[in-house]
Amino acid sequence: MTNSPVSEHAPTIGDTRLLINGERVDGAEGATFDIYNPSTGTVLAQVAEGRKEDINRAVKAAKNAFESGPWHDMKPAERAKLIWRLGDLLLENAAELGGLETLDNGKPFLQARDGDVSAAAGLFHYMSGWATKIEGSTIPISFPGQFHTYTRREALGVVGLIVPWNFPLTIAAWKCAPALAAGNTIVLKPSEVTPLTALKLGELALEAGIPPGVLNVVPGFGTDAGVALTEHPDVAKVSFTGSTLTGRAIVHGATSNLKKVTLELGGKAPNIIMPDANIEAAIQGSSDGVFYNQGEACAAASRLFAHRSVYDEVVAGISAAADAIKVGDGFDPESFIGPLVSKEHHAKVAGYLDLGREQGTVAAGGTYTTDGGYFVKPTVLTDMGDDSQVVREEIFGPVVNVLPFDDEDEVVRRANDTPYGLTAGVWTENAGTAHRMAERLQAGTVWVNCYGVFDAAMPYGGFKQSGWGREMGGVVLDDYTETKTVCIKIGD
Ligand code: NDP
Repeated sequence: MTNSPVSEHAPTIGDTRLLINGERVDGAEGATFDIYNPSTGTVLAQVAEGRKEDINRAVKAAKNAFESGPWHDMKPAERAKLIWRLGDLLLENAAELGGLETLDNGKPFLQARDGDVSAAAGLFHYMSGWATKIEGSTIPISFPGQFHTYTRREALGVVGLIVPWNFPLTIAAWKCAPALAAGNTIVLKPSEVTPLTALKLGELALEAGIPPGVLNVVPGFGTDAGVALTEHPDVAKVSFTGSTLTGRAIVHGATSNLKKVTLELGGKAPNIIMPDANIEAAIQGSSDGVFYNQGEACAAASRLFAHRSVYDEVVAGISAAADAIKVGDGFDPESFIGPLVSKEHHAKVAGYLDLGREQGTVAAGGTYTTDGGYFVKPTVLTDMGDDSQVVREEIFGPVVNVLPFDDEDEVVRRANDTPYGLTAGVWTENAGTAHRMAERLQAGTVWVNCYGVFDAAMPYGGFKQSGWGREMGGVVLDDYTETKTVCIKIGD
């Protein structure tokens, strides 16, 4: 676990003020907060802190942009062009955006540039196509010749988008792209831990020609700016990604005006290796599925169920894979895992490692740094019961529990025995088993013989306490539009 010097890919940080109505402004109360480089634990920059008054200013700008002005009058085809252009600009600025993400979040630069930024660009490109295809339908009601009835799908108005720190740009794009395609205007609140790429996204939106006030970006704390946005009477909808606990607070806050809410929350994904699986592929896929992005992923494949006949082989294989992973500064091209995002999060994950060591067996990793950067070793734990805290709770770090099972019914029951239901994985060479398991697992996405495949066209979201609604795919547009029914009398 090393801290190498920051490389030539580290960009200059630039303007860290709020972006409201197309202008960079200080917070109304003049406050700032520090952000940290997780590779070193040192201060990276000061960022203007948006508070309630700033959220009010941003919502007002977004409301004006929604109700009048060029965005309001824009043809869908024109809107589509601007959204596409924003996707292009993300790609043109991929090195800078990737570098900002590495500085701020810690993740490896190559993953940030070639994974996060290109996924974000893909969202804008994909959603731009939907801008011209948001259609209603004509409805044959029970009074022939008397009424003409049809539906229209209309934008909601101002939407509040609250995003976390694990994929700061990508998750902002998951939400901004469909919101814009449907014609809404936005107040985006990034996590206070990782605000840099959201600010840059707002600037690039202006450069793409998206009018001022349509995409406002207000970094600030959840407990102040986040609450103000959630409770604001002029915000029609909040889309949130983060912890299940905060998701509950969002739902309560939204009752002020009964705004619409979508939630993408935690997970504790089961990943199941059946006895007939291609074991080599399953081990590599399972390792990537849990360790990618430092395990800071709601989809992390953190409960690895291995059939007893292949259990020893799987434990040995994933332990070897974990030991082979290079952990280090995100700008070191050899690093597959960077530091965890913050001191607080590092302490939380370290607590789970200590617990795992006390209650189970450490097959690989299990160690973490105690000063400087926030690094932990990818860790494989065994010999723990399904009811232990480490197996039940979302750790959000590079930690996997390997759990043996004997038959399909048993593993399905244990896999589903969790309040979460975001994602699941199955490894099998039998097509019948694949389809049967896909049907039986309670999860919003089931990957078979692969893990962590995302695409702008694939809906993503959770069953049970993993969320409400979906991100991506055509279905997400339902969450950013209202359906209006029009009924016209045309005869007696
Ligand atoms: P939170 O859910 O608290 O934060 C996510 C976002 O919500 C941030 O922008 C945060 O702002 C904001 N927020 C926090 N409280 C409120 C509130 N009351 N009203 C409105 N917005 C609010 O996650 P944490 O950053 O605290 O991480 C805690 C745990 O959550 C992690 O360990 C992990 O288990 C889980 N998590 C899950 C994610 C997922 O993808 N599903 C993503 C991130 C975390 P601020 O940054 O200022 O707190």
